[in-house]
Amino acid sequence: MNQQAFSSLKLHPNLLTNLSTLGYDAMTPIQQQSLPAILADKDVIAQGQTGSGKTAAFGLGLLQKLNLKQHGIQALVLCPTRELADQVAKEIRKLGRSIANIKVLTLCGGMPFGPQVGSLEHDAHIIVGTPGRIEDHLSRGTMKLNGISTLVLDEADRMLEMGFQNALDTIVAQIPKQRQTLLFSATFPAKIESIAKKIMRKPLIVQVTSTHDDSTIEQHFYRIEDDEQRMTALRLLLLKHRPESTLVFCNTKKETESVAQALTWHGFSALALNGDLEQRDRDQTMVRFTNKSISILVATDVAARGLDVAALDAVINYHIAQDPETHVHRIGRTGRAGSKGIACSLYRENPYRMTMLGDYIGREIKGETLPSLELLKQDIFKPTMTTLQIGGGKKQKLRPGDILGALTGEHGIEGKQVGKIHLMDNWAYVAVHRDALKIAMKKLSEGQLKGRSFRVRQI
Ligand code: AMP
Repeated sequence: MNQQAFSSLKLHPNLLTNLSTLGYDAMTPIQQQSLPAILADKDVIAQGQTGSGKTAAFGLGLLQKLNLKQHGIQALVLCPTRELADQVAKEIRKLGRSIANIKVLTLCGGMPFGPQVGSLEHDAHIIVGTPGRIEDHLSRGTMKLNGISTLVLDEADRMLEMGFQNALDTIVAQIPKQRQTLLFSATFPAKIESIAKKIMRKPLIVQVTSTHDDSTIEQHFYRIEDDEQRMTALRLLLLKHRPESTLVFCNTKKETESVAQALTWHGFSALALNGDLEQRDRDQTMVRFTNKSISILVATDVAARGLDVAALDAVINYHIAQDPETHVHRIGRTGRAGSKGIACSLYRENPYRMTMLGDYIGREIKGETLPSLELLKQDIFKPTMTTLQIGGGKKQKLRPGDILGALTGEHGIEGKQVGKIHLMDNWAYVAVHRDALKIAMKKLSEGQLKGRSFRVRQI
């Protein structure tokens, strides 16, 4: 399909100017196919994965329709996880930064209730949240949905998998029938169809199966004899490609733990990410992976959903996904935005299942030979960065600039040795080059930060 410019749409000039400053020149396929209908106030069902540009597709629709003179919530976006909700809210704010005074509020579980009630009293235009918490607000009467003109269900399949069906029914029942409903989902099980029938009006269906072609993702398959060989194969592939950031997919939470442990035992820098982790540990794991202090993240499909990493160098399927759609979704996490990525899959499945998968991805699957065992003698690569946790955050009025300033001040480290900075409510994380660790610790802990001394530790 030919690429089309956003300027071919009837978008508000401020939104268009902002898109070009963001470097969004052409529409992605999902945007091209869905935006005209979204802007015409039609209901749309779209099949799009993370990375397809789906957030901007519905985000631009919401922003274009917003009436700043009207009080109360005008749009509700429901997401399965807090990580996704945060990511979606961030993208909407970015897209809408050329419109003055828009308020986008996230309401998710796992966060204190009181401050959310306070924020709701200050009139938000757009709410992004998880179904459970939105349902709680409705039942306590702390939020009203009677002014909503757009409802978005993002990753609807995951919301159902996570048991949010009842919460969704309760929420939808409180939104005016006269509205636009947009539904995004990576897969289309029968349950999604029945929800769509119930809550949508003559939806346009848009399908974009893959955002990649073979030139951006290299896919390899390796047939495995037994589970012991599986771990060796994983080590060999890591040592051969030496990727800076790798996502390893497992089918169970338990397995994410054992694989991460085994990799660590073999000297790799690896952590597990799964739904059993406490929210704080999950945040910390994601921060360390996205700021390149950890090279390998071993995750389940659900846990990996919220991960916001622009370009993963490699995705390795420790086990083949349960269904072909999930397989495509997994490997779509690498090679984003035109950068080259590698996807390796280890399998022991019977030929019938592999033929099915091959048919789905449009190629014959042939097991390749694993790299030579000689590679196991090689040095293990280490991440270039390490993370420092600072005992102060947004509530202590710390800003990224303060942290960067303290690190790079007199006798400090160089700006290029500082990586990502993540600010949380009561603490902050900053990535620094391993070589610069000692000086960085000293600069941060010795009262260089806003004239105060904060607790700093390497994690
Ligand atoms: P999403 O699928 O919504 O998670 O978006 C994936 C990434 O693509 C996000 O980082 C967006 O900021 C970016 N993006 C979305 N639309 C465009 C576009 N038309 N051109 C360039 N980047 C885009």
